[in-house]
Amino acid sequence: MIENILKKAENEKKLTDDEFLTLFSIDEPENLKKLYQTAVNIRNNHSKIIKLTSTVHITNKCQVQPRCKYCGFAVNTSRDGYYNAFYKSDEEIYKAVKSIEEARIPRVSCSGGHGYKGKQAVHAAEIVKGDTELEILVNVGADLTEKSINRLAELNADTVCCNLETTNEEVFNYVKPGETLEDRVNVCEMVSDAGIELSSGLLLGLGESNEDRLEHLRFLNNFKTLGEIPIMGFNPYNDTPMENHPPCPLDDQLKVVSIVRIMYPEIRITVPTPTIGPKNVEYSLNAGASNLATVIADNYPLEVKGVGSPTYGNLSEVVSVIESLGLYPQYL
Ligand code: SF4
Repeated sequence: MIENILKKAENEKKLTDDEFLTLFSIDEPENLKKLYQTAVNIRNNHSKIIKLTSTVHITNKCQVQPRCKYCGFAVNTSRDGYYNAFYKSDEEIYKAVKSIEEARIPRVSCSGGHGYKGKQAVHAAEIVKGDTELEILVNVGADLTEKSINRLAELNADTVCCNLETTNEEVFNYVKPGETLEDRVNVCEMVSDAGIELSSGLLLGLGESNEDRLEHLRFLNNFKTLGEIPIMGFNPYNDTPMENHPPCPLDDQLKVVSIVRIMYPEIRITVPTPTIGPKNVEYSLNAGASNLATVIADNYPLEVKGVGSPTYGNLSEVVSVIESLGLYPQYL
C-alpha cells in the first residue's frame, strides 16, 4: 500500500487526504527510507541546486505580550538566547549583509520582533536592496501593515515570511497567547495580494496532530504567491514556559519535509539549521529539503542566536555536506 502511494507521488499525481495520512503514520525505518527517497527523487527531478540563506537579526525587542511560550529570542526570555536588548544600527546591518555577499551566500533573512509596523523590515530591505546583490527574505511575523508590505514590493523584496506555526487554533492560542492566528493569516493574504513571494511554515511538535499538519499544508495552497515552506521542529529554550516540553523528534521533522515535497514538488522547503541541528543537515537534504537557513560564514561580524535554538550552520561545513550528496550549493 505504501509502495503504491509513493509510486503515485513520484509520478506527481495528486494524493488524497487518506493517502497523506497513511504517509504521516509511517514509522518503520524501511518505509521511512522509501518515503525520503521518493521526496529526494521528486526534488532532484526539478533541481539539484540547494539555496543557502544567511541571517541578520534586526532587533530582539518585541512588543508581543504575553511572549510566545517557546521564544528564546526576545529580550529577557532565555539565558541561552540573546537576553539583552539590541536594535542593530544601519552600519551593523550593512556590515553583516556585506559579509554575507563576500561569502557568496545568495540570500539573507532579515528578521526581528514586533512593534514597528514593518518599519524595521522596510529599513533592512532598503539597505539590502540598495547596497548588495543579495536576495532578501523579510520575517517580522505579523508586524506588517498594507503600507509596509506595498513598500517592500516597491523595493523588490524577494520574499516575505509569516509563519502560521500551526493552524490548530487551540494550540496556537496556547503557545502564542500574545498573537492571533487571524492576524498572521491576514498578513499572508496581504503579502500574496501585493505579489510578493510568500514563505509560511510549520513549527512542529507543539501538540498538533497529523490531521492538523495536513490541514495546515492544504490551507497554505490558498496563498497564490506561496513559494517557500519552512519546516521547523520545536526545540526547548531554557528558562521559557516550554522549557520542559519535549523537542520534536528528528524523524517527525524529516517525515513532514518529505510529505511537503510530495504535496508541493517545486516549492522551496527550508530547514533552519538551528532547529534541525547543524549536524542533521544531511538528513534534511536526504528528505527533500532545498534551502538551508541560518547559514553563517566565518567572516560574519555579529553574534547569532535563533528563536528556537542558539545554534547555526557554518557555511563551509554545510557546503561540504551538500556536495557530498551530489547536490549543488547555490552561490551568488
Ligand atoms: S517568537 Fe517572535 S513574536 Fe513571539 S515573543 Fe518571540 S520575538 Fe516576539
